[in-house]
Amino acid sequence: MPRPIEALVHPDALAHNLARARALAPNARVWAVVKANAYGHGIERAFEGLRAADGFALLDLAEAERLRALDWRGPILLLEGVFEPRDLELCSRLKLWHAVHCEAQIDWLAMHKTHEPHRVFLKLNSGMNRLGFVPTAFRAAYARLQALPQVDEIGLMTHFSDADAMRQGADGIAHQLAAFDAATDGLAGERTVANSAATLRHAARTANDWVRAGIMCYGGVPDFPEHDAAHWDLRPAMTLRSKVIGVQQLLPGDTVGYGSAFTAEHAMRVGVVACGYADGYPRHAPTGTPVLVDGVRTRTLGRVSMDMLAVDLSELPASGFGSEVTLWGEGPVIGGQGSRLPIDEVARAAGTIGYELMCAVAPRVTVRSA
Ligand code: PLP
Repeated sequence: MPRPIEALVHPDALAHNLARARALAPNARVWAVVKANAYGHGIERAFEGLRAADGFALLDLAEAERLRALDWRGPILLLEGVFEPRDLELCSRLKLWHAVHCEAQIDWLAMHKTHEPHRVFLKLNSGMNRLGFVPTAFRAAYARLQALPQVDEIGLMTHFSDADAMRQGADGIAHQLAAFDAATDGLAGERTVANSAATLRHAARTANDWVRAGIMCYGGVPDFPEHDAAHWDLRPAMTLRSKVIGVQQLLPGDTVGYGSAFTAEHAMRVGVVACGYADGYPRHAPTGTPVLVDGVRTRTLGRVSMDMLAVDLSELPASGFGSEVTLWGEGPVIGGQGSRLPIDEVARAAGTIGYELMCAVAPRVTVRSA
């Protein structure tokens, strides 16, 4: 028998969340962002729920090939463009849009002998200082691309650094939006600037021709201090669940796990769950990180080990060996009511973000569609 841990992907939730992006940005098309193996959900499984997207955005040519193998004939965008000149061949063959963020990528295009014209999104570095042409170099890059017979369509894009933050009372996007508007003023081409944070918070200002919805498709929110996913009517697209495989009865003064990091103050029952950091659960999740046992909220105790973690069963007399444990996502229905533990809540307790938890689910965990 395999260990009882599994990740369930919920196609209905993906479809629902995609519809939320559409509702927030009704005049834009939606790139569903499926990089990093669809944020850990698996390209093929994510596609089941996201096939109504207008396009898919990702990084890897291999992942683009997997989408084409699913018979997806619509737009695919390589968000970082190609990493070496020979990738252009496959780009043509797969009919991809690709970002162009640096001079080298234009040089490669200029040298490339192609039968299929290329479609690119020229990327502006509007302030994040990660990828893209700075505003002073942007128009020259556009003109270079325009002059290339290899290039047939040019879109315009940028990426926000702070759409999820309220920095110094500012809205996090105004300066970058102004830089984008100035750099692209009068240039022909489709525009895309919004990630999930901008779509959720600032759709009226940022949803132009396309939005690029990543985390919101998976039912998580960016690092918002004020609202959780339920506020935006987003549903968890992934459930990580396991079982209690051992029970210990502690006496006052007994400790739990490595480093004896938790000490019982009174007699208590502890469940040992088949889920550890080698499954992708964050090792730095402290005592008190929320978890559901049989759909009821309780807390982790002590340090997370490689293959196990401990949970408090003191208040759950009916739970014990074999009980279902929801590490995040949708729990079982109890008394006619569904139970749920948002991944963002677990992430916050562990000092990280839901993105990291989704992407970190380990290969040894079976992932399947619900
Ligand atoms: N666009 C680009 C260029 C990205 O790098 C990402 C993700 O990091 C996204 C869109 C989607 O972001 P999010 O998952 O926050 O919606």
